[in-house]
Amino acid sequence: MAEKAKKAASSKGLLQSEELYRYILETSVYPREPEHLKEIRDVTADHPRAMMSTAPDAGQLMAMLLKLVNAKKTIEIGVFTGYSLLLTALTIPEDGQIMAIDVNRETYEIGLPVIKKAGVDHKINFIESEALSVLDQLLKDSENEGSFDYAFVDADKVNYWNYHERLMKLLKVGGIAQVPDHLRGGRQATLDLNRSLADDPRIQLSHVPLGDGITICWRIF
Ligand code: SAM
Repeated sequence: MAEKAKKAASSKGLLQSEELYRYILETSVYPREPEHLKEIRDVTADHPRAMMSTAPDAGQLMAMLLKLVNAKKTIEIGVFTGYSLLLTALTIPEDGQIMAIDVNRETYEIGLPVIKKAGVDHKINFIESEALSVLDQLLKDSENEGSFDYAFVDADKVNYWNYHERLMKLLKVGGIAQVPDHLRGGRQATLDLNRSLADDPRIQLSHVPLGDGITICWRIF
């Protein structure tokens, strides 16, 4: 992997010890990271906002969660160059479907050649739009309620609670919503969200200190 991509990845994370983080990446994460994901990290490394992409250790947990719930139909809010999107597409079954929403098609197109090379673009329905209206549109058809297995929310923090309320209808009971914490950018919105999530009886909740921090919401009713 290119040195700059490694550097971008290793400077992420909540772990206070840079050495320990590097050890985890080099021992457990990089050796198991699919080649096409390394490639998407490489094509993203020169982007001025490369830090926005999902950290590879967080991605590894995401792949495990997707497998654990046998995710087949997923929704992603916030695609950027497509690290988490490609990871999802590589993890779900051949007939799986991802609704991927981002206001910016240009960044999606940076990673798209790699997604195509990986042979998983047929699983992706990319929608260039702000996400809230897409979720509201989905909810107009009751058939969409309880139909998604997995949601990854990685976009504008001010809307996270709005997304959560809608996703609690769109996800099936037993489905998972994964939200990066990103306390560094959007601190107050994240703190408010965490307080509301802690009070939400519809979910089993866990905060995992991987990457920028991950909040896992498992819909239990
Ligand atoms: N999940 C991505 C990855 O692994 O590379 C990183 C996503 S990045 C943190 C946030 C993305 O959210 C940006 O690409 C941005 O264009 C998008 N975004 C911001 N506000 C949005 C909105 N209201 N609706 C949809 N996408 C939005």
